[in-house]
Amino acid sequence: MSVSKISYCYHSHTKRCGHAIGNDEEYVLAAIKLGIKRLGFSDHVFLKGVDQPWMRGKFEMLDDYLSSINYLKDKYKDKIEILAGFEAEYLPTHLETYEELLETKKIDYLILGQHIGEENDGLVPYFYPSFSLKGLYRYGHDVVKGIESGLFTYLCHPDLFMNAYKRWDSNTIKVSKMILEACEKYRVPIEINIGGMRHCGYNPIDHYPSNQFFQLSKKYKVEIVVGVDAHDPNDYNEEDIAKALEFVKENKLKINLDYVIKKD
Ligand SMILES: [Zn+2]
Ligand SMILES: [Zn+2]
Repeated sequence: MSVSKISYCYHSHTKRCGHAIGNDEEYVLAAIKLGIKRLGFSDHVFLKGVDQPWMRGKFEMLDDYLSSINYLKDKYKDKIEILAGFEAEYLPTHLETYEELLETKKIDYLILGQHIGEENDGLVPYFYPSFSLKGLYRYGHDVVKGIESGLFTYLCHPDLFMNAYKRWDSNTIKVSKMILEACEKYRVPIEINIGGMRHCGYNPIDHYPSNQFFQLSKKYKVEIVVGVDAHDPNDYNEEDIAKALEFVKENKLKINLDYVIKKD
């Protein structure tokens, strides 16, 4: 019997992104073992004409991705509900593709994970060099536009900037308020990202998930969900879930333990 209290995970990658390991089925088996009832695959979105083998699969991998998910959906239908999605950035030239994926019901949902932005039709990181103030504001503006687009079910690691900007000051407060206001207005939940805990260690002072960001979030009517951000089937484990619940307790947050993405 699993002690995990979280019944879902909609943030799970596959090896197609180039920085995750394991087969799709191993993720499903690990999630079932942990007591997850609804699993969403949300690999880094494949973008037409974009070749970033360290970051995401090629768009040509779409059929393989979807057929693998559909096969597993059927094979394990008595044990777990499986959804097909993507973690995607708000990128103006690719929004049409996102809309098409949703409208044709090839995928069930998109979650917003803003790792890079778009400039003159090219993809650019926000935080080179690290600590970039310009990058921080560009991140905030792009996240807000993503939320306003209505394409995304929830916002992954809203406080991702803490990993690169690395300090909590008047600028991070301003950007966080912009993001939280938009999430409240458009009813987009925010995610406590367990991946951040894995990458950064459990030290939310200048990392994500950020105590300061989630403390600030309590001033807004924003739903909070949890995402494993699995890049390895072993990322589905009791210890990491316990750490996330500890973060929740420490910050006296209310989270949704039974969040459901509805397929229509
Ligand atoms: Zn990743
Ligand atoms: Zn991400």
